[in-house]
Amino acid sequence: MQVCLIFVFIICWISFIVAFTHRTLLNPLKYTSSFSQCDHCLHPLNWWQLIPVGGWVFQKGRCHWCQQPIDAFNPMIELILTAWYLSKFQIYGAIPTLIILTTITIITTTDWYEQWINPVFLCGFLPFRSVMLADSHWFIYLIEVSLILFLLGMNYHQKLGFGDTAYLIIILFSVGLTATCWIILCACLLILLTSRYQTKSLPFIPYLNLGLILII
Ligand SMILES: [Zn+2]
Repeated sequence: MQVCLIFVFIICWISFIVAFTHRTLLNPLKYTSSFSQCDHCLHPLNWWQLIPVGGWVFQKGRCHWCQQPIDAFNPMIELILTAWYLSKFQIYGAIPTLIILTTITIITTTDWYEQWINPVFLCGFLPFRSVMLADSHWFIYLIEVSLILFLLGMNYHQKLGFGDTAYLIIILFSVGLTATCWIILCACLLILLTSRYQTKSLPFIPYLNLGLILII
C-alpha cells in the first residue's frame, strides 16, 4: 500500500516537473492558459489526458483534439525515473533521492528538447556526496584532477559543451571516480546503440542520466 502511494506521488511529481520545465525554462511564452494545454494545438487538456503514462496510452500517442503525435518522452521518463526512485529511496533516503530525481528530470528535459542545461540545477546532485563513499586515496585524487583538466580541455577546444563539462565535474565530485567512469562508458554505449537510428545530433545529458540511474 505504502509503495503504491509513493509510486503515485513520484510519477505525478515527475509529470509536474516536466510540465513546469516546459512552461518556465523551455517555452515560457508559448502557453496561453494556466491550465495544461496540448503542445501542438494548445487545446486545454481534460483530467484523463493528464494522468501520467495513462494519458499518453489512452490517446494512443496522439492528441485527442488535433491528432498530432505526442512525444513518448513523458511516459518514458515518468516510468524509468519512478522505477529508479522506488529501488533507491530506502538506500539514499526519501528526500535526497527526490532532490536528485528532480534534478535529473529538469536537465534531461531541457537537454532533450533544446540541448542545453542550466548548471545551477547540478547542485541537486550534491546529496549523493553525503550518502556515497568518496574515493580517498591520493592516487585516485590525482586521476580525478587529471580527468577534470581533460574535460576542461575538451570544453576549451569545443569538443564538449559547457553543460556536459559542468555535469561531469559535479558528478565526479558527487559519486567518485569509479562510478563516473562507468556512467560515461554506459552513456557512450547507449549512444552507439541508438545513434544508428538518428540523423540529428544527440543530446549527451539524457544518456549520461540513463547511465547514472543504471550505475548508481
Ligand atoms: Zn492537440
